[in-house]
Formats: sequence, C-alpha cells, structure tokens
Amino acid sequence: MANDKEPIYVTKTFLPPRHEFDAYVDKIWQSHQLTNNGTLSREFEANTAHYLGLQKEQFTFVTNGTLALQLALRALDIHEGEVITTPFTYVATTSAILWERCTPVFVDIDPKTLNIDPQKIEDAITPRTKAIMPVHVFGNPCDVEAIQAIANKHKLKVIYDAAHAFGVTYKGKSLLENGDISTCSFHATKLFHTIEGGAVITNDASVSKKIDLMRRFGHYGDTHYILGINAKASEFQAAMGLSNLKYIDSCIEQRQKISLLYDEVIGDRFQRPSVRGDTGRNYAYYPIIFETENKLKGVLKELEKDGIFPRRYFYPSLNTLPYIESRTSCYISEDIAKRIACLPIYTGLREEVVKRIAVVLNKYS
Ligand SMILES: *Cc1c(COP(=O)(O)O)cnc(C)c1O
Repeated sequence: MANDKEPIYVTKTFLPPRHEFDAYVDKIWQSHQLTNNGTLSREFEANTAHYLGLQKEQFTFVTNGTLALQLALRALDIHEGEVITTPFTYVATTSAILWERCTPVFVDIDPKTLNIDPQKIEDAITPRTKAIMPVHVFGNPCDVEAIQAIANKHKLKVIYDAAHAFGVTYKGKSLLENGDISTCSFHATKLFHTIEGGAVITNDASVSKKIDLMRRFGHYGDTHYILGINAKASEFQAAMGLSNLKYIDSCIEQRQKISLLYDEVIGDRFQRPSVRGDTGRNYAYYPIIFETENKLKGVLKELEKDGIFPRRYFYPSLNTLPYIESRTSCYISEDIAKRIACLPIYTGLREEVVKRIAVVLNKYS
C-alpha cells in the first residue's frame, strides 16, 4: 500500500455503541443463559419481526444464513431432485443445495436486473424438479409474480435466498413475505448483522414450527419429533442484533446518501443493475458493470495503490464451479461476473473517499 491510511474495503462492519451492547451482555451474566432460545433471542425475534412488518411467528432466528437455506430445503421435504437456481450469487446458495444432496440446475440471469430470468425457468423444469431457489441479488427484488406463477403451474416450492434483502419492501410490504420460505443472513459483512446469524421467514405456521424444532435437534424436552440439527443462535448474537436494530434505519439512510453521491460523481458512465419499480431499497451494495474485464482489472489495480479495495462480486459464475457435475452454460452470468465489482459502501465511509474512487473510475469509463 502506498500510504499508511486505514485500508478501505467494500464494507466495514457497523458496531453499536459499546455501552449499549454491554448492557445486554450484563443481562446474560445475570441470567446465566448463553444460548438455547433465551430471553434475548426471543426479544430479538419479536423486535426484528416487528421492524420488518412481520408477525413474530413468521420469523425464526438461526445461527447463520447458510443453515437457514439448508433448513428451508429440509422443512419443505426437498432432500433429493433438482433445484432451479441462479449462477450469479454468493457460493452459499449453491453449496446449500449440494450439501442437502440436491442438484442445482442453473438458469441464466436477466442482464438488466442480474436476477434469475423467469422466462428461462420453464425450459429447465424436468420431472425431477422440486423447487426454485432465486436470489434477490444486491437486494433487488426478483420478478416474484412471474416466479410464483411458474411455481403454481408446475407445483414447485419457492425458496428465496434473501441474504441481501433485509429491510427491502416491494409494493409496500416486506419482500421477505414472498415464496414458501425466504432466508436472511446476518453475517458481519451484511447490511444488518448479529456477528454470525440468519433467519427463516415463512407464512406457513406448520413450516415455521418445523424450522423451530429442526434448529434445536428436533426435540422439546424428552419428546423427539423429527430429525434436527443445531442451528440455534446464541444470546451474544441476539445481543448484537438487538443493539444494531436500533441503528438500522440510520445505517440505511447513510448508505443511501453514499449511493446518491456515487450516482452524482460517476453519473451514468457505468451500467448499473436496474431496480424493480415499487421497491423500498436498502442500499446494501453499489455494483457497477465495466465494459470489459480489463477495464475492471485496471481500476482495481489503480485503487489498490491508494489502499482502496472494491470487491469482484459475484465472481466466478457458479455454473463454472469445479465440483458441479453437469456443466451448463449461462452466457450472461459468465459474462457479467467477469465485469462487475461492488464499490465500498458503509456507515462512516467518507465523501472524500467516494470522490477519490470516482476520479479513478472515470478514467476507465
Ligand atoms: C452471505 C450470503 C449467504 C450466506 O450467509 P451466511 O450467514 O454467511 O451463512 C447466502 N446467500 C447469499 C446470497 C449471501 O450473500
């Protein structure tokens, strides 16, 4: 690095005022309950559900977003067969499907929204297809109406990986209400975090009950009902979540400001994903698409010298993973994955840094 300044990464985890977190930790010292659905976890579930405009029964807190996806598949009895999904996402979407012994079937993305292209889903359906697992990439809502219509027609389940979509609304309601299940990630690198954490959201009370049982080994007391696993979040995770929840609106507001500043200083020199109408955005990411991979590499190299590290996200396109058995081509995803990067955006990012980034970017537009 050319200077001794603090490096700028694509994100910087928000931390609440220390004394507010400590006040929750004091409660843990009093209760001596560190995990197993304690007071703080239950309070976190109620408060977060309320923030999202959901009923508390719809929302189950788990220890990470990957287990949330795995539990979603299990709770819907999808333990074999094909799951239609997008290649343009973080690897966890695909690995959760594989880990549950299902086969991911990749359907290419819409070049404008970067979400799975609903027009290409039906061609990928076979007698073995069990579910569709789309991702609201960068918090941008999928075409939920078209996807639901296809699912209804072919009697398929829909699980939305909504890891990027915390707080996003669509047509005035939480985006997380779509599909049979939606899952969230509250990992430290996400917009809203509980250190590690995640949630399963569903409108179906029986699925919700199953998820609750499954996350705690499938039993209440000495009565065992179903096969379970350990997906419980700890009271410390809940303490972080409760502390952060008080700041989420201001975090989103600050990201919106940075996002608008990027818009202003970069203008329309770069292609950006188009966001669905009627969306209440969360500004979790600021992706830009370069004309060529070389231009992207040039920018990254130059910014690196200034101690600034945008992230190639998502790269590579997941249909090209070495452990995928049957290769399908997804031309659009493979092409865009090579040319896209996310710029730094987080609470506390200085305007001056955004302007420095813009100077470099505009040389390559
Ligand atoms: C972060 C992420 C996950 C995984 O969440 P973890 O909480 O890290 O397990 C899954 N899907 C997507 C799209 C993600 O970005």
